[in-house]
Amino acid sequence: MSEPKIQFVDLLRQYQNLKPEMDAAILRAVGRGDFILGEDTREFEKEFAAFNQAPHCIGVADGTDALHLALLALDIGPGDEVIVPTHTYIASALAISNTGAKPVFVDCEPDFYSVDVKAIERALTPRTKAIMPVHLYGHPADMDPILQIAKDRKLAVVEDTAQGHGATYKGRLCGTMGDIGCFSFYPGKNLGAYGDGGAVVTRDAGLAEKISLLRNYGQKVKYVHTMKGFNSRLDTVQAAILRVKLPHLAKWNDQRRAAAARYGELLAGTKLGLPKVAPYANPVWHLYVVQTDNREGLQKALDAANVSHGIHYPIPVHLQEAYRELGHKQGDFPVTEALAPRILSLPMFPEIRGDEVERVASAVRGFSP
Ligand SMILES: *Cc1c(COP(=O)(O)O)cnc(C)c1O
Repeated sequence: MSEPKIQFVDLLRQYQNLKPEMDAAILRAVGRGDFILGEDTREFEKEFAAFNQAPHCIGVADGTDALHLALLALDIGPGDEVIVPTHTYIASALAISNTGAKPVFVDCEPDFYSVDVKAIERALTPRTKAIMPVHLYGHPADMDPILQIAKDRKLAVVEDTAQGHGATYKGRLCGTMGDIGCFSFYPGKNLGAYGDGGAVVTRDAGLAEKISLLRNYGQKVKYVHTMKGFNSRLDTVQAAILRVKLPHLAKWNDQRRAAAARYGELLAGTKLGLPKVAPYANPVWHLYVVQTDNREGLQKALDAANVSHGIHYPIPVHLQEAYRELGHKQGDFPVTEALAPRILSLPMFPEIRGDEVERVASAVRGFSP
């Protein structure tokens, strides 16, 4: 007689809340038949640019492509280096290696899990072309010192904002501080499609124009190709779905903040390491990540209470087999390596109910009083 499962992210609950509006929007897009770069894609680009107070937004196929095309638009390729934290999802690094450039990994700092600014300084070489901060878990990276390094060394800054839609750093929106901000609309992200999707935002009209060519076979006019591009467009039906959701994003982020605050109250006094918020940050809680000395025990306690959980991420990117050619070993990035076996993500989504947060917390407390 176990209690109902608490999902890690319950996408269906959100759909049920939006159903009439969502179904109508999808049918409207299908009925219009403009499936590729149609009206909803164009309108969503305008609306997402406005949300981010950014002059330009280009929809692309997914978040990995957003990062990849951003780097290509900045002329980054073989022989170049891009500095990226190793404590991130592997897509940040893949976007760099997919250009032919080398991802140069750096550690994170232990308080907010953001890229360590001192480590960025140590990783600079004459081949460094860009820095890719990641607003991991929805908590902004410490951007001012990163932007200063970039300015002094004439480097580009590409923000991986795949987990940070609407997060702010000293009041400035994540994704709008560097040269290009890159977003993912993977279903579980703070703004998620019903499939893959992504976008870039930028102040720079030239970069925007280049990315809009790169995502569409290098053509502006059909069959006239001014560069070797890709097929990486934000699908019209996905854009229609995102247009229904975008007006709710700020409220959903507030609901995540409320759930995070409640977790904080209920888990205070346990032996868990709870997430901290930097004085400069207004995070959007893509994930609620705790630290524990006994992860296996905590996982078992949550399983017994029918509570889903995750690990973001169990193997640091520099230790992935995919990057063995870089020759990294255990010990290279001690902060990230110490986190990897300790972190665990609790259920977090806007629609999680108070009683569910309480059930999760009591399962955790039962394990770690
Ligand atoms: C999700 C994610 C990506 C990749 O986005 P996709 O849309 O899945 O390609 C990149 N970086 C980070 C930090 C992510 O969380």
